[in-house]
Amino acid sequence: MRNRLLWEHKGVAGGQDFGASAGGRARRTYVPESKRFFLQLGWLMGVMRTILLKGSESRWMRERAMNYRFVRRALRRFMPGEKLEDAVEAARAMRDQGLNSIFTRLGENLTDRSQAHEVVEHYRDVLHRINALNLPTVISVKLTQLGLDFDREFCFENLCQLLEAAGDEIVWVDMESSSYVDATLDIYRRARGLRANVGVCLQSYLYRTAKDLETLIPLGPAIRLVKGAYKEPPEIAYPKKSDVDASYFQLASTMLSPEAQKAGMRAVIGTHDRDLIHRIQQVALQNNLAKNSFEFHMLYGIQRAEQLRLVGDGWRAGVLISYGKDWFPWYMRRLAERPANLLFVFRNLVG
Ligand SMILES: Cc1cc2nc3c(=O)[nH]c(=O)nc-3n(C[C@H](O)[C@H](O)[C@H](O)COP(=O)(O)OP(=O)(O)OC[C@H]3O[C@@H](n4cnc5c(N)ncnc54)[C@H](O)[C@@H]3O)c2cc1C
Repeated sequence: MRNRLLWEHKGVAGGQDFGASAGGRARRTYVPESKRFFLQLGWLMGVMRTILLKGSESRWMRERAMNYRFVRRALRRFMPGEKLEDAVEAARAMRDQGLNSIFTRLGENLTDRSQAHEVVEHYRDVLHRINALNLPTVISVKLTQLGLDFDREFCFENLCQLLEAAGDEIVWVDMESSSYVDATLDIYRRARGLRANVGVCLQSYLYRTAKDLETLIPLGPAIRLVKGAYKEPPEIAYPKKSDVDASYFQLASTMLSPEAQKAGMRAVIGTHDRDLIHRIQQVALQNNLAKNSFEFHMLYGIQRAEQLRLVGDGWRAGVLISYGKDWFPWYMRRLAERPANLLFVFRNLVG
């Protein structure tokens, strides 16, 4: 195909800024039209992502969007339903296909003690039901659901109550936006000092994560590695996806290294990125790790075929199932991960 060559003032930031240049000195370069199209598409996706993540914090949008039936219909792709029973049904179906599951009730940034108490009581009930139904299911919680925003000690005690109620089963702690990382890791370290059944999520988009991982390894931690879902500034997080992916691979390789494994690392690879999954599997095999010595986790409704392929090939895999009424910010983050998901929402509007 013959590409028409276009003049362009090339910017500096990761190939996504058009027209600007450092110190106002523009460099004129020929850019093939096809490449220009993909650069512009990437830029557009970046803008959409920013809008969606900003929208996830908007009360105005939340109050409106949650009432539209087509939005709720589109939501079903990522959530079996708002009730715990819906999650239980989905977990049963997963179990029958060889998949483990992780339950999380949506809701974050609670503002008073009674709400946090209610969350603890809810999860106690969940743990009881999981046990009674003999499901291969654990729970994952956000510390801001347990009171982190208003009383760190209270939050720690709430987490400890859940660890106690879970017996030997692990309780995962989600990682929220960057302002919570210090507090989350601090609470994780304290909890890990008391009990082994606690795991924490780390995000590969943060520059600090390599250092955090290094200091956590001697604890024999349980770590779920993800790329990161929040809007973070370039001072603290890699702005380019390729760097986030490279960081992910490095961190996962460290988690599966003989040193980390010897220290007692329990690794969870939380991604839908098939290329990364394949490369990480190669690392595990090179390190002679048994296929069931670590786990892949994905989100409900995303890459279902890959989830089944993993268990079919003998790897351990789990699916995080979300439920609950407060789905708006979480749903906006799912849309932001892949702005093409908006097409699906619009199809539900017209369909
Ligand atoms: C088990 C689990 C727990 C998580 N916990 C946290 C947490 O505690 N804190 C946090 O910040 N983030 C969390 N995340 C979200 C995570 O940070 C990423 O935003 C999300 O997983 C998308 O990144 P990816 O690794 O799948 O890679 P990407 O490169 O974003 O995606 C790879 C491919 O997966 C598919 N895909 C990915 N996302 C979507 C989507 N939303 N819709 C449709 N297809 C999609 C697409 O085909 C895409 O090409 C969690 C993710 C998982 C799987």
